[in-house]
Amino acid sequence: MRSILSSLKNKKILVSDGAWGTQLQQRGLQPGECPELWNSTHRRDVFAVAKSYIDAGADIILTNSFGGSPHKLAHYGLSDRAAELNEAAAAISREAAGDGHLVLGSMGPTGAILMTEEVSEQTLFDGFFLQAKSLKKGGVDALCVETMSAIDEACLAIRAARESTGLEVVCTFTFDKTAAGEYRTMMGVSPAAMARAVTEAGAAVIGANCGNGIDRMIDIVREIRTVDGTTPILVHANAGKPVVREDGATVFPETPEMMAARVPDLIKSGADIIGGCCGTTPAHIRALANAIRRT
Ligand SMILES: [Zn+2]
Repeated sequence: MRSILSSLKNKKILVSDGAWGTQLQQRGLQPGECPELWNSTHRRDVFAVAKSYIDAGADIILTNSFGGSPHKLAHYGLSDRAAELNEAAAAISREAAGDGHLVLGSMGPTGAILMTEEVSEQTLFDGFFLQAKSLKKGGVDALCVETMSAIDEACLAIRAARESTGLEVVCTFTFDKTAAGEYRTMMGVSPAAMARAVTEAGAAVIGANCGNGIDRMIDIVREIRTVDGTTPILVHANAGKPVVREDGATVFPETPEMMAARVPDLIKSGADIIGGCCGTTPAHIRALANAIRRT
């Protein structure tokens, strides 16, 4: 069986994939459209994104299932198709990855912040449980609970994924830099607090995704390493902070070369798995992969 931890033993640093959302938008995904429905209606486009990252040199690819929890799919009236859409997402990435690469099932936040009790903990747990189970059925090697900001929701998702599949779970949070120069999630969680809580909940790999370009990810990894010297760290950095151009288009400023130039420092800070988030493309992943091979 393929496992992230054993792959890290064979290969010191692993290359992960880049953005899915912005890549699907380039292929015609419209604002307000459900990305996960494309696993059924636009299978070939989803496959092309997955394959483009394998071709670019990624050791790991994710799945088009970020918003695939039943709670999220309910926004599109699709919660009753959660099992089918997650299984399809996993099957598409599995086919693109073949036997030689790892597939991580993406599980994003539900948007329901537990404290407001808009939805019960049990309902959210059952939703993550079903999502993880369906992703495993479709062929993923591990799960990736990502873009989290609240410790309670992240730990719930990790436990649901572990109990439903027994597979390794990666967990990454999204941090922003405060005016005081500290890194915090929207819910006020620091990288160090995240690291303690999610490893205790059973995450095998921890880290950060989205929200920041590669420079700030170096700071975040350093902070995690002050409290956790051993758990492997995954970083999915954005291609910089998005800027809105005069014509209204959103652009990500960091080129593949700019990101690749920071790879040695990111590895030195303690990162073990490096890929991209919003705005990164197969060209970014190819540049990161080449930089990793040179280090
Ligand atoms: Zn992102």
